Amino acid sequence: MELTERQQRIVAIVGEHQPITGERIAELLSLTRATLRPDFTLLTRAGLLQARPRVGYFLAPPQREKTLCDGVRAVLVAALQGPPVMVDEHTSAYDAILTLFLQDVGSLCVVRGEAYLSGVVSRKDLLKVAIGQSDLHHVPISMVMTRMPNVATVAPDDSLLAAAQKLVAAQVDALPVVTSCADGLQVVGRVTKTTVTRFLVENCRDVHSDTPAFQKGEAGHER
Ligand code: ADP
Repeated sequence: MELTERQQRIVAIVGEHQPITGERIAELLSLTRATLRPDFTLLTRAGLLQARPRVGYFLAPPQREKTLCDGVRAVLVAALQGPPVMVDEHTSAYDAILTLFLQDVGSLCVVRGEAYLSGVVSRKDLLKVAIGQSDLHHVPISMVMTRMPNVATVAPDDSLLAAAQKLVAAQVDALPVVTSCADGLQVVGRVTKTTVTRFLVENCRDVHSDTPAFQKGEAGHER
């Protein structure tokens, strides 16, 4: 888009004095605010200026949305994943419920041997089995879980966007992060809807601050 000379001067004035009111810009250009109204409209619609009521105009942060979008594509699961929360496949439903509470998570990876993924169990699976089962100590978690190969997973070098797409497609709250070995998929972490949401919040915190576009999140347990 090509700006007129007057529009370029407006952008330069805003850059120098921001935030600055429309009246003040008009004064500096020896024009009326009404004359400049179409310019303000065009410059804000074009995303060059932003206006805040009772504050004035300021320069729009350049390409913020594009930067955020690039960040979701560029940042890798490995940078944001939390530690896995695992139970052995012989664990009882009772102990799995305890682990869910103690670890403050919404789902558990069910593993065999050296952390090889067998399945996933969520709070709804456990609620379902708790209704109508009097002795959860004798219900093995493997009877309750969603088992391989029906578990959606991600690899550490997948992008956060790929993880978010899988969370949406599978309609689940969490994905085990796995690496592939001869004996199966080994669980090395977890990514949840909170991981993705936190990334978005961290990176949209304040469009006027110098907060880096894509920061590393804290890799704690997330629901
Ligand atoms: P909630 O129990 O709170 O609804 P989820 O939405 O994560 O939790 O789980 C819903 C169902 O999907 C459960 O039956 C669970 O076993 C299954 N599930 C959870 N995570 C996965 C996954 N990564 N891949 C496939 N199925 C999953």
